[in-house]
Amino acid sequence: MLLDTLNRPLRNLRLSVTDRCNLRCEYCMPEDEYVWLPREDMLHFEEISALVDVFIGLGVDKVRLTGGEPLLRRDLPTLVRLLAAKEGLQDLALTTNGILLSDQIDALKTAGLGRITVSIDTLHVDRFVKLSRVDELGAVREGIDSARRVFGGMKLDTVVIRGVNDDELVDLIEYAKSMHAEIRFIEYMDVGGATHWSPGRVVSREEMLAALTRHYGAIEPIVENSSAPAERFALPDGTTFGIIASTTEPFCRSCDRSRLTADGMWYLCLYATHGIDLRAPLRRRATADELKDLLTGGWQRRADRGAERRLQLGDRRAFVPIKALRKDPHLEMHTRGG
Ligand code: SAM
Ligand code: SF4
Ligand code: SF4
Repeated sequence: MLLDTLNRPLRNLRLSVTDRCNLRCEYCMPEDEYVWLPREDMLHFEEISALVDVFIGLGVDKVRLTGGEPLLRRDLPTLVRLLAAKEGLQDLALTTNGILLSDQIDALKTAGLGRITVSIDTLHVDRFVKLSRVDELGAVREGIDSARRVFGGMKLDTVVIRGVNDDELVDLIEYAKSMHAEIRFIEYMDVGGATHWSPGRVVSREEMLAALTRHYGAIEPIVENSSAPAERFALPDGTTFGIIASTTEPFCRSCDRSRLTADGMWYLCLYATHGIDLRAPLRRRATADELKDLLTGGWQRRADRGAERRLQLGDRRAFVPIKALRKDPHLEMHTRGG
């Protein structure tokens, strides 16, 4: 098995299919203008498929399509069909903001998509508009409804920010329940893109659990042997939910995920400032073995523990200043797929 310097296997690949987005979430894309990846650099579906074959050969068995907003990528179901046909892949999932989901849900299901996660941070239209600059909560909810109908359920992701939506945890759990969804509350992270981040805006896992316990009564942790970032909990009535405590309790020790940007840069950590260019060798017609060697060497050298290192810092503020983000859009959260 291919292991990095901390004995972590390579199992999870987050595949960004576009850096464009139809929302401007303030924790991810708060600026007025962005530098986009050049269109000619975007990997074609056949190129993505060839790379995924190499990743599968090295142990990857989970792929998640992400972005930017992945449903903005034209003909996404065609890529889903290519990937769903791969034998070594156990899990093919999609993370989306949901706006375009109801239009594409049938095609995605038919193409073989396994699971869907929809991001939703609030149930209030005014807050949604303030948070994302677009009046599309209705479309997101339609998308969630369509995922309930066609997939039978889904996961929901909510970034919790103090003073923005931290009073909605109970309402969101109840909403998730009604949609046959399991919700995961994510601590606000100081990733590239989060230029408005400050420690005071982070609502910790402990605070979330305390608020939910006040409302529901005793909450039980669910013990499971998994490398997934979410810790899961059960309410007294059996309803389950997750918390991703990436800021206050990072899980770098068991992190088996890497990220491929839409233009073929491979990043071994959400906080990595340097990636490995896979597009250039791919377009020089490198053989599968040459690509395999490149990936193997990269993973074997991996020592990243970005979130743990951030936690060790005393005076903590936004990770990447805006000037640096403009110089290299690969540092942006919306480019590396979250
Ligand atoms: N556009 C899609 C969406 O929003 O689901 C997929 C890409 S988005 C970058 C992937 C995930 O990253 C979303 O669930 C989003 O909430 C999360 N995310 C973005 N910025 C974040 C931040 N600063 N802290 C924590 N999570 C963040
Ligand atoms: Fe929001 Fe996702 Fe778009 Fe980022 S990529 S702005 S999280 S919808
Ligand atoms: Fe993995 Fe890096 Fe996130 Fe830690 S910070 S969990 S190493 S991606």
